[in-house]
Amino acid sequence: MNHDLIIRARRVVFEDHVAPASIHIRDGRITSVGSFDQVGNHGDLIDVDDQSVVMPGLVDTHVHINSPGRTEWEGFETATKAAAAGGVTTLIDMPLNSIPPTTTTPGFEAKLATAKNKCYVDVGFWGGIVPGNTGELAPLKRAGVVGFKCFLVPSGIDEFPHVTEQELREAMPELTRLGALLIVHAELPGPIVTAAVNNNAPDDYSTFLSSRPKKAENDAIDLMIRLSREHGTRVHIVHLSSADAIPMIREAQADGVKITAETCPHYLHFAAEEIPAGATEFKCCPPIREAQNREELWKGLKDATIDFVVSDHSPCPATMKRRDTGNFLEAWGGIASLQLRLPVVWTEAQKRGHGFHDLVTWLCSRPAEQVGLQKRKGRIAQGFDADLIVWDPEERFAVEASNLFHRHKISPYVGENLSGVVRKTFLRGRKIYDGRDIDEPPGGMFLLN
Ligand SMILES: [Zn+2]
Repeated sequence: MNHDLIIRARRVVFEDHVAPASIHIRDGRITSVGSFDQVGNHGDLIDVDDQSVVMPGLVDTHVHINSPGRTEWEGFETATKAAAAGGVTTLIDMPLNSIPPTTTTPGFEAKLATAKNKCYVDVGFWGGIVPGNTGELAPLKRAGVVGFKCFLVPSGIDEFPHVTEQELREAMPELTRLGALLIVHAELPGPIVTAAVNNNAPDDYSTFLSSRPKKAENDAIDLMIRLSREHGTRVHIVHLSSADAIPMIREAQADGVKITAETCPHYLHFAAEEIPAGATEFKCCPPIREAQNREELWKGLKDATIDFVVSDHSPCPATMKRRDTGNFLEAWGGIASLQLRLPVVWTEAQKRGHGFHDLVTWLCSRPAEQVGLQKRKGRIAQGFDADLIVWDPEERFAVEASNLFHRHKISPYVGENLSGVVRKTFLRGRKIYDGRDIDEPPGGMFLLN
């Protein structure tokens, strides 16, 4: 292919500014970024309309695809179609919920075999840490996982037990030796009140909320700061919900501890006070907290104590959400939102005075950096993959279940009014979504480190 594809627009979003530009693409890569008029005469030119902006494809490093073994929960085909429709061109799959989980090399091979030829966007993989698998970490890293996840509380999945402080002390020196990132579900079991104790009004959201207090998160993060300091391991806190932990993360960062954190759209958009009785589609762990906590999370994002925002897309079959009984304590915890991260974050970010370049930082470049893809994904620049989205930031829409590509359409966002509609998604220069349909065949590749 010796001709270029050129995409030009009046509003192209770079990391620190928005400007008119023409993006020149060859063989799936950005060969150069020129001025708006610099289009030559030897390429296919796509002129983007003036309402739309062009941004890097989104990178979502926290997605539960649940396959093989629990493909009825989601699956690579449905998840990556939802990603494409949501402007996500790179996603990283979590190591649990699949059977087998990605905690051994054969488990990883089973995952790759299942995902093969089913991915519509580029996909990478986290490995997992469970009691006794320290010997598996080096081979998993060699096989290409981007890092390792552990839980400090039961994950809800029998095949993926949580680890204790003692078990972390065994795994962390090995992670440090490998230079691997440890990502942590940071809640400790101690402060969590069991369902049996607190079973008075199980369809009342406040019952569930009080069963998983901020203290469970705060204590876990305190532990991880101590262990990171002790072992020199890079640690990342996934789905931070308790804003009380922000000052201690900030302090640790200033003190040279290699700790980072992410939060999720649902913690930045919803508030506990507004969750209706029995609305179990809102259940996730740690829980969505009060409006005041939400505003503190926004401040943490603004001052970069919280590095970025990922979906934690974690769906399940509708029956497991127990919408029939509305019992929060029995419902599966997890929110489906892979397709909606851009409009949710944009809708809220705008209200707080943030601009497009903040979106690129939170949704594209920093997540790419987390998984070692900072030279290839998450920015519009020469040499980067031509993963691009065209979207209309002003258009508002109400989320309809029928427009979601997720396998299960149950989501707390159904009915929400949001701003920002994805018009086109390009994966390495190929248009894979046109605002309505996903292009066949699937052309995503594995991103193996
Ligand atoms: Zn998760």
